[in-house]
Amino acid sequence: MFIAGKKTSELKSKIVKEVICPKCSSASSTKVSVIGTYKHLFQIPFLSGGKHGKSVCSKCSHSIELAEMPSAIKLAYYELKETTKTPIWFYIGIISIKVLVLIKIFSKYF
Ligand SMILES: [Zn+2]
Repeated sequence: MFIAGKKTSELKSKIVKEVICPKCSSASSTKVSVIGTYKHLFQIPFLSGGKHGKSVCSKCSHSIELAEMPSAIKLAYYELKETTKTPIWFYIGIISIKVLVLIKIFSKYF
């Protein structure tokens, strides 16, 4: 059973029109994605584990990890990442604990 672990979630993606797929030479078929990683406990997201990138061609399914991306795709990825915020639910576990602690503190006064 998975009590704690890491999961990934696609945060944002975009077709990069200017990029030509290095494998099948199709234009407007490369999709760049910003993927967020989070650590979870009992399936509840607790902490953000950073972001990474991936690109996939919709024509030939050729996928490229960030480290191997040609510079044109890498550039598009960094542009996309600039506008991608870490979603608040990545921290829902830690927020819930803080809220519970606050409720406990305040409940003493009522
Ligand atoms: Zn392709």
